[in-house]
Amino acid sequence: MKIHNTLTRKKEEFKPIKKDSVGLYTCGPTVYNYAHIGNLRTYVFEDILKRVLLYNGYNVKHIMNITDVGHLTSDEDEGEDKIDVAVQREQKTPQQIADFYTQAFKEDLSKLNILEPEIWCKATEHVSDMIKLIQKIEKNGYSYIGKNGNVYFDTSNFAGYGNLANLDFESLNTMARTEIDKDKKHPRDFVLWFSIKGSKFKGHILKWTSPWGEGWPGWHIECSAMSMKYLGEHFDIHCGGVDHIPIHHTNEIAQSESATGKKWVNYWLHGEFLLMKEGKMAKSAGNFVTLKTLIDENYDPSAFRYMCLNTHYRKKMNFAFEGLDSAQNTLSTLIENIRILQEKQEGETRQGKVEDYKKKFLEVINDDLNMPKALDVIWKLIRDEKNISNQDKYGMLLDFDKVLGLGLGGIEEKLQIPQEISDLIQKREEYRKKKDWKKADEARKELLDKGFILQDTSTGTILKKNNK
Ligand SMILES: [Zn+2]
Repeated sequence: MKIHNTLTRKKEEFKPIKKDSVGLYTCGPTVYNYAHIGNLRTYVFEDILKRVLLYNGYNVKHIMNITDVGHLTSDEDEGEDKIDVAVQREQKTPQQIADFYTQAFKEDLSKLNILEPEIWCKATEHVSDMIKLIQKIEKNGYSYIGKNGNVYFDTSNFAGYGNLANLDFESLNTMARTEIDKDKKHPRDFVLWFSIKGSKFKGHILKWTSPWGEGWPGWHIECSAMSMKYLGEHFDIHCGGVDHIPIHHTNEIAQSESATGKKWVNYWLHGEFLLMKEGKMAKSAGNFVTLKTLIDENYDPSAFRYMCLNTHYRKKMNFAFEGLDSAQNTLSTLIENIRILQEKQEGETRQGKVEDYKKKFLEVINDDLNMPKALDVIWKLIRDEKNISNQDKYGMLLDFDKVLGLGLGGIEEKLQIPQEISDLIQKREEYRKKKDWKKADEARKELLDKGFILQDTSTGTILKKNNK
């Protein structure tokens, strides 16, 4: 299996540290708002990676963090704590904010058929691990304390700082910055521990005692501390979005390797941006589309997943509703085909051809997760009238779906519709005939609440189970 390693900028053969098992860490959400579909694209890519590893027979220990303290509005330690921003906005406690958006995030993952990590870890529950790690960094001479009491990481002391991002360290240190923290020795230095004393965050609600006084941990240290706690000081794969390369992941490497004195992670994989017509999707840019936005517009979350599969994870993905329409239509056709195959399980098996398709599928998914090509294999298989029996096609498609995660195997369930649900569908049809769109939409929403998604396609309406 080959994957593209950001560290070397090459496709490399994947070799796990321990035979048959893989340690995987993926940076999780900062739970102060809903995830937008650009964030979710990254989680879909990571899910594909995990599924491909599983398909290849590896055991995967997957860790994802929940950032509920310490992430400032700028990744470079400027601005306010994102959780505090939400506390002000919604007049709730930090805990209530974090719980609410963690739940919303987990629901998004579930709707997108994303497998949950083996371990979820919250930053606020691991502060003592972070303190211990900062102490190691301090002991090894890689930190200093600013006049404001903050503990900083001294980047000039760490040979190889910025290798992940190919950063030109000299030019970065002399670059003009609008708002530089005066306590930093070098612009690239970053905070390991924020001190309440002397800081501009006097009102920060979450605080812990530490050897450096009361305060709270920086954002980067949490990923280093929690990944090492659960995966050890040296593990296989670390993932995130490309936006994490120059700062967050660069800093994670510096902290971890200066604490342990050895290589931390073998493979770094990064998912590219999702672009809107207006540019990169960002909460600040106001072009903020969530999964809920799509569902409210009658889209099936799996259509968004299909759209993600159709663009290689290392390519920028252009998002437009026309593109989503087309993904939804293609997905409906795929589901329709599977339904037909399920009903007409006939034809004779030609084992050789079955093996050809399986081989081709494995080849493309193992070539740096080439999912667009994997979809090509699937469509070629569906259209192959000559060489493959319906029974084999059906079996293979469900097997391939272990990687695609489109929920194709859930079609049997869909055929068993509770009476209450068929009544609702009937009612919605009547409203639609009367052109009472408001009532029809209400019925659709009620169905969604009860766990069913209705898709209107050119060939009729399709009912799907909402994978929640
Ligand atoms: Zn992280």
